[in-house]
Amino acid sequence: NSLENYVKIDDDFEGYPLHLFCVPKHYEDDLQSILIPKGCVDDRIERLARNICEELGKEPTVALCVLKGGYKFYTDLLDKIQALGRTSSVSMPISLDFIRLKSYHNDQSTGEIQVIGGDNLENLQGKNVLICEDIVDTGRTMTKLLSLLDKYKPKKVRVASLFVKRTTSSIYRPEYVGFEIPDKFIVGYALDYNEHFRDLSHICVINEQGKRKYAS
Ligand code: 5GP
Repeated sequence: NSLENYVKIDDDFEGYPLHLFCVPKHYEDDLQSILIPKGCVDDRIERLARNICEELGKEPTVALCVLKGGYKFYTDLLDKIQALGRTSSVSMPISLDFIRLKSYHNDQSTGEIQVIGGDNLENLQGKNVLICEDIVDTGRTMTKLLSLLDKYKPKKVRVASLFVKRTTSSIYRPEYVGFEIPDKFIVGYALDYNEHFRDLSHICVINEQGKRKYAS
């Protein structure tokens, strides 16, 4: 459907062989394929920036980065939004904030999340908030964050997620989506596997050896 507002990566797309692009030597044997080269990620983010500016216009916005996985998306997206503002007759005043989410998956918990860091969330009252997240899988994390932020009475909340996973169990869809990807575990561009692979620029799929080597 040409009206879909995201780039769809089909289930039968195997990705590109590693030798066609550059990957760090230390990950060469641990990756199955390159699913999305960094250049394509950049170009998609440029368009997300434009869509976001068209909607939020010149209203002051708090851009909220969900660390750690969202940090590259966040900086690249904000760079593009600021670049638009320099050359257009409207520009969006942006303030920054950073949070980390901790979820408890042990038997003590009911899947609550805890927000770590960030300024006083009371500051969000009456403001537009743009949440920047790396990837939405089941959507549980984002649903919980949204209900938590709701208590601080922001004016408008929008979620930009660079990736969403195509799963049957997803309970949430962000307003801005870069790519919809197959139900595979991806790394690179700040997305990690047990803290590894954040230093890889392309979006890649790890292989069995990589999973074993970096298992926690
Ligand atoms: P959800 O609550 O939507 O199921 O999961 C969201 C979180 O799980 C993301 O913020 C991310 O930290 C992690 N996650 C889900 N899928 C992936 C993936 O394919 N790769 C990586 N690196 N993290 C993922």
